[in-house]
Amino acid sequence: MKVGVIGTGYVGLVTGACLAKVGHQVMCMDNNVQKVEQLNQFIMPIYEPGLEEIVRSTVNEGYLQFTSQMGEVVRQSDVIFITVGTPSRPDGSPDLSAVRAVARSIGQHLDGRYRVIVNKSTVPVGSGNWVRMLVEDGARLATQATVAVSESSVIAVLNLAPEPNFSIVSNPEFLREGSAIYDTFNPDRIVIGSEDEHAVEVMRELYAFWIAPQQSDKIPVPMVVTDLASAEMIKYAANAFLATKISFINEVSNICERVGADVERVAQAIGLDKRIGHQFLRAGAGWGGSCFPKDVSALVSTGQEYGYDCSLLKATLSVNENQRRVVIEKLQRELRILKGRTIAIWGLAFKPHTDDIRSAPALEVANQLLNLGCRVVAHDPIVTAAQANVQVPDLQVVDDPMEAVNGADALVLMTEWPQYAELSLEAVAQRMRQPILLDGRNCLDPLKARNAGLSYTGIGR
Ligand code: NAD
Repeated sequence: MKVGVIGTGYVGLVTGACLAKVGHQVMCMDNNVQKVEQLNQFIMPIYEPGLEEIVRSTVNEGYLQFTSQMGEVVRQSDVIFITVGTPSRPDGSPDLSAVRAVARSIGQHLDGRYRVIVNKSTVPVGSGNWVRMLVEDGARLATQATVAVSESSVIAVLNLAPEPNFSIVSNPEFLREGSAIYDTFNPDRIVIGSEDEHAVEVMRELYAFWIAPQQSDKIPVPMVVTDLASAEMIKYAANAFLATKISFINEVSNICERVGADVERVAQAIGLDKRIGHQFLRAGAGWGGSCFPKDVSALVSTGQEYGYDCSLLKATLSVNENQRRVVIEKLQRELRILKGRTIAIWGLAFKPHTDDIRSAPALEVANQLLNLGCRVVAHDPIVTAAQANVQVPDLQVVDDPMEAVNGADALVLMTEWPQYAELSLEAVAQRMRQPILLDGRNCLDPLKARNAGLSYTGIGR
């Protein structure tokens, strides 16, 4: 099928490349011209394991193309994905300006041929109807423009202007940054929301590789077909549940610390209950990233719009915010005075195997420490100083984790990159001014750390 993808970020680029890999003809569009130029030279705008290889092979085989021209994508595509960002506004509601611009622009370029317009961006319930209205508005604007520039017969031009012919589908995305390619090829489910049976059939054909695999050893991925509003809600509910599960174990960890229990033992035991499970039951410095904070806030904001107070989700947010304070308070307990101290941070990305630092807990903690008068020296295997300094200008970022700990009064591990567990803790202890290790992800072995001469503190243990 001929597929267009608008917005080549974490979701759009991965989706476009994977759809090309299974044999669709894909054109990815972005209004960031520099990004498009770089992609055409195989320079990836994001770090995602396996992405460059798949982009290279699909481009070279002629299945994937990049452009900055909306008209080109709309003209060639049967299915058009909207995958632009929907970041939080200061009041917690999502900023839908990119979706608005894209929907209008698609409408302006429609001819009379049928298209399926698929919303993959995470958008509040009701956005499907709103996007439909914007596409229609765009189409109307284009018609008016045609009429305005025409000096000949207005009637003739009006008759030529085609009626927009399209369906709207909601197809929320569940990939995880860091394993986005794997997740796209191995999703737990594919959710399709639409009021139009024909559009659902088009989506079944598009996702045939997943839902009706040719190889007998491949298990078909379940496709869940719903109305538009339910599909939009599924994405928010899934992220809100996962965020709440982490906040739950973090709340338990704070009680564990007070009563002298070990949250790691507690989580291990309760996770064995199949109704609970171990995933997303890790205590630590809290969740961040480009999705959980904005999606939970957006759901709270939707509740507010309808006069409903989302008390559980508000608690999920506030427990998470408090986890950053937990890190600072632990350092205050260990060091008493923070002013003038040098604190090393290992890990800046909001989780391992990604370069994404949107709402990264490490940067929030770094910012608080800088405000409290510390010098903060950080390391991350992928995130660069240039990236981090956009958010936290005074943060010093070094290339070597051992350089970060030189002369430090404490080391805080904020992202559980596996390579940190491989480093010699003896060498770390020797380089520090005070051998204090705060494991914000409970990922290092406390016994090993203590044997290496470090004073080890975890979260909830
Ligand atoms: P992103 O910021 O990485 O990418 C968005 C892209 O859209 C950028 O390349 C930007 O240049 C482009 N863009 C913005 N305005 C445009 C316009 N008018 N025309 C063309 N391109 C435009 O965002 P992302 O992380 O890929 O997220 C996209 C959506 O998917 C969001 O709604 C997000 O909530 C959702 N989502 C993200 C993830 C994730 O892990 N990142 C997972 C599931 C769902």
